Amino acid sequence: MGHESSRFLITGGAGFVGSHLAEALLAQGHAVTVVDDLSTGRMENIAPLAGQPGFRFVIDTIENEVVMDRLAGECDTIVHLAAAVGVELVVHDPVRTIETNILGTRAVLQAAKRYGCKVLLASTSEVYGRGVRVPFSEEDDRVEGPTTKSRWCYAASKAVDEFLGLAYHRQYGLPVVIFRLFNTVGPRQSGRYGMVVPRFVRWAMEGEPLAVYGDGSQTRCFLHVADAVRAIAALAACPEAVGQVYNVGSTEEVSILELARRVLDRVDRWRAEQGLGGAPGQPASGARIRLIPYEEAYEAGFEDMQRRVPDTSKIRRATGWVPEKGLEEILGDVVGSMK
Ligand code: UDP
Repeated sequence: MGHESSRFLITGGAGFVGSHLAEALLAQGHAVTVVDDLSTGRMENIAPLAGQPGFRFVIDTIENEVVMDRLAGECDTIVHLAAAVGVELVVHDPVRTIETNILGTRAVLQAAKRYGCKVLLASTSEVYGRGVRVPFSEEDDRVEGPTTKSRWCYAASKAVDEFLGLAYHRQYGLPVVIFRLFNTVGPRQSGRYGMVVPRFVRWAMEGEPLAVYGDGSQTRCFLHVADAVRAIAALAACPEAVGQVYNVGSTEEVSILELARRVLDRVDRWRAEQGLGGAPGQPASGARIRLIPYEEAYEAGFEDMQRRVPDTSKIRRATGWVPEKGLEEILGDVVGSMK
């Protein structure tokens, strides 16, 4: 990247990943237009970019055909991040999840097709469902739960997005690249829609017990958003990536219980560094971690994934990308950004 400057359109660009991507692409000398309806995105995420040369923000929904047609006509590459995400949001608003994800992606692909834009389509590790054979590699089967459990509507909607993107590539020759993000975290991520890291950090800073769902033995691999952004930019610049699907994730696996301990430890050290002393209202019982059954946390019969680890050899072969930041650095950055 960086040799030739392009015109990027980022859907959902006021969101967590999108705002970091916008910042990075601008820094590389590209022009960036963000389109976001601010449903889960936040103005404050992109406020620092306002006024930078090459940056433009359009508040609208990607389902507005007239606007999307104009924006697609003015860009070379669309990074499609706009989506309903977060287990909390998905479980409580499945209609919005399914409709936003499928109709939004259709609107983006249709607009891109009119102008031949390259499309980088964001997908998710959720599409692997509750597959048990880790690490997950791109050609693995998807093992999804029943339609009676709303959690699975997210995976199903993103799988349809992938099918649709690949179909536009095969049938119309549209240059489409799909990337599956695995538990991406970092500064600016909101805990409101369920994401565990910002929630744990917030609770630890406020002296609230950390709510660990289930027995906490389930594992995840957390990727720093800066690494995710580098992967997306590398794929955008990689001609062989067209028509392909890539895992983008960290391979540093940690259980959620261990994550809770690491967050508490990191926040304690941060408090000491700031000369703040012990956590406020630290429970006398010393119970700084509470185990909450899944049914209580989400919905009856909720199904969680026990392990989720990506095989990232495909993107490494194509672009040389490997994650650079480990969990310690991630927690440090999140804590530092949350004061
Ligand atoms: N989790 C938790 N407490 C919370 C939120 C999440 O223990 O307050 C657990 C959740 O059950 C899952 C893991 O943390 O096992 C990661 O959850 P998140 O929603 O961040 O991402 P997911 O991997 O489920 O998409």
